[in-house]
Amino acid sequence: MHYQSLFQKHLDTLQCEGRYRVFADLKRKRGAYPLAQHWNAGQNREVAVWCSNDYLGMSQHPVVLNAMHAAIDAVGAGSGGTRNIAGTTHYHVELEHELADLHGKDAALVFTSAYIANDATLSTLAKLVPGLVIFSDEKNHASMIEGIRRGQREKHIFRHNDLADLECKLKKYPKNTPKLIAFESVYSMDGHISPVAAICDLAEKYNAMTYLDEVHAVGLYGARGGGIAERDGVMDRIDIINGTLAKGFGVMGGYIASTRACCDAIRSFAPGFIFTTSLAPAIVAGATASIRHLKASTVERTAHQERARTLKRLLKEIRLPVMDNPSHIVPVMVGDPVHCKSLTDTLLTEHGIYVQPINYPTVPKGTERMRLTPSPVHTDEQMAHLLTALQTLWAACPIANGKYVRLAAE
Ligand code: PLP
Repeated sequence: MHYQSLFQKHLDTLQCEGRYRVFADLKRKRGAYPLAQHWNAGQNREVAVWCSNDYLGMSQHPVVLNAMHAAIDAVGAGSGGTRNIAGTTHYHVELEHELADLHGKDAALVFTSAYIANDATLSTLAKLVPGLVIFSDEKNHASMIEGIRRGQREKHIFRHNDLADLECKLKKYPKNTPKLIAFESVYSMDGHISPVAAICDLAEKYNAMTYLDEVHAVGLYGARGGGIAERDGVMDRIDIINGTLAKGFGVMGGYIASTRACCDAIRSFAPGFIFTTSLAPAIVAGATASIRHLKASTVERTAHQERARTLKRLLKEIRLPVMDNPSHIVPVMVGDPVHCKSLTDTLLTEHGIYVQPINYPTVPKGTERMRLTPSPVHTDEQMAHLLTALQTLWAACPIANGKYVRLAAE
């Protein structure tokens, strides 16, 4: 067996399909986000980042940075162990209190990422609840899909945000069959928002638990940044909320918030929680400071929504195919992986604008897109520069245009 040639063959396939991932080598400059240095072949130049999930720019916020510096000065770098063996610092305990309060729950449990939180919680729930049947939205994130898959229980995939399809699948089971509905609030690639209250109605009617991934909503929506469930006044109707500390809150880590018994059970049985070193205290301190700040301040949320609305309006004015949605995500459809990459490569090399192309399997084939994420710190001038560059490139990219016209007509 020629192991290396086998690896190369797989990579060649990705190259041929135009979806081989090339990482941008970036170095952000403190306080200057969205500007960053882009390193390429030993050279570096300044670029504006337009695709980060640091939605509110909190990774640069002085409140967060000060908390992180203070934690390093106070206790050093690493946590020193798993949560069970010396790795539960006072910072972790405080963060979990802050998160439980944010979501109006009894308890919260912090993981090293929201990916791990989804994977570990869903796979463990499936093992803890005999006969559990899981109903999962077809556009759920890979981390939920993986957790459900590893749980090895019966599952049903319902059409995206389709209440009739969900109900049709739920009603096939007796009321006393244990059920779980797993869904997201903001779907990050299309920017759709789910009908959270209506899904809770169905959950009540058919006696199902609700598991809501609010990764692209925490910090960003709701009076205190509790997400779409807070905005819609239904937090108390969600059994388990999943969130990240890495996007709206600008640091790193993930969590669930739920009842004390549920969090305690996951804490006690989930290998993905138990057998890994806990987050470093400085990260935890930064996340806590960010959450506290965003509970009290609405300035960032208001500016964020305004930036997203403005960018969508301006893109429509220059007739670019921006996908309509009610959220802060600004997807521009290209519909072809090679052209998507070529557009974003040219944006980077000729215009100093970094937008990562979004290809299969992150989105279905034929729906490749540029996903723009304006933040409160993207200025009018930076937006004008982006629009001019996109307009120029779009006009010179007939295949991208043609492909889009076909997609829109389908
Ligand atoms: N859930 C959803 C819907 C996501 O989009 C992501 C990441 O992008 C995650 C979970 C994982 O979040 P994290 O980056 O904290 O692992």
